Amino acid sequence: MQPSSILLLTTGGTIGSVPGPDGPIGHLSPDELLPHWGGAPEAYTVTWKEIFQQDSVNVQPAQWQQLAREIFSHYAAYDGIVVTHGTDTLAYTSSMLSFMLPNPPIPVVITGAQIPLVSPLSDGVSNLRCALAMAASGIPGVFVAFHGTILRGARAVKTHSLSLDAFHCAGDPHTAHISAHGLVIPREPLPASGGKPALRDALCEKVALLKWSPSFSPDILLLLAREGWEGIVIEGYGKGGLPLAREGWPDVLARLRERDIPVVLCGQCQAESDYGESAAQCPAGCISGKDMSTEAAVTKLMWCLAQPRDPGQSKTAAAEAWFRQDLAGEKSTRGKSLCS
Ligand code: ASP
Repeated sequence: MQPSSILLLTTGGTIGSVPGPDGPIGHLSPDELLPHWGGAPEAYTVTWKEIFQQDSVNVQPAQWQQLAREIFSHYAAYDGIVVTHGTDTLAYTSSMLSFMLPNPPIPVVITGAQIPLVSPLSDGVSNLRCALAMAASGIPGVFVAFHGTILRGARAVKTHSLSLDAFHCAGDPHTAHISAHGLVIPREPLPASGGKPALRDALCEKVALLKWSPSFSPDILLLLAREGWEGIVIEGYGKGGLPLAREGWPDVLARLRERDIPVVLCGQCQAESDYGESAAQCPAGCISGKDMSTEAAVTKLMWCLAQPRDPGQSKTAAAEAWFRQDLAGEKSTRGKSLCS
């Protein structure tokens, strides 16, 4: 059988870092990394390319655009694309890429590691192999590969900073996993395929995220509006609860509407959520993020605010219309089946 041809794009993070006594002291180039990885199995022909080299806490929206453009420009030449990335913001990047790259014709798989590849105990070797297997699977979509599981890119959440199973799927079972049978890919929930691949890399950078706490009052939202923030995501308690019995909410939400600033409400409990009920408790003037992960809600609002509008349509109305669609499997399939 012909080996699958895979493009491997590196962006930095722990996986490619050189550990020092007080944290990483540098990053290895793809060529320097190769011997530590032990090389790609014969089933794959891997081409490496460095896109940037940094701790992912420093990844900015411009780098999501750079990465999306790079991936889009290589669709035709490869069976699949793997991206190595730091784990701290990996779920933001995988979510944003899911929106910027609608209908990818090939698998795009993002991975990283908790322990650098240069360390003997690195989880990077198995994570890379898991990513390669998914990249060669022929199943199009944006995915995260970590600790033997494959997650939808727009539902991945980093839940652990030390354990090797650092990523979980908000609300859903994972998409696929590695077992003694190899890469096991159940039929559900797979991304819908078809449609024309596109690069939609416009975004709005001025989206704020507020984790609600008992110390807040609603006028904190007006402060953000005055400072020029163009969209707000609120993480409400549990699956999205807000203290609506406190004064000020209807007035503040109405004023934000007048100023054309969309407000999205999602929940603080990402491990388990209920699509139907979290929608029901969303107050007038807020867009329900349903059971989306916070990472998906923030990146989706950034993306929606930059999409085309109908003539005369307000920014909020347009963003809400885009936001309501399930664009990249960001809404839980489990929730959908519960509520249908
Ligand atoms: N701080 C690192 C990063 O996100 C952590 C990691 O890669 O695991 O780049």
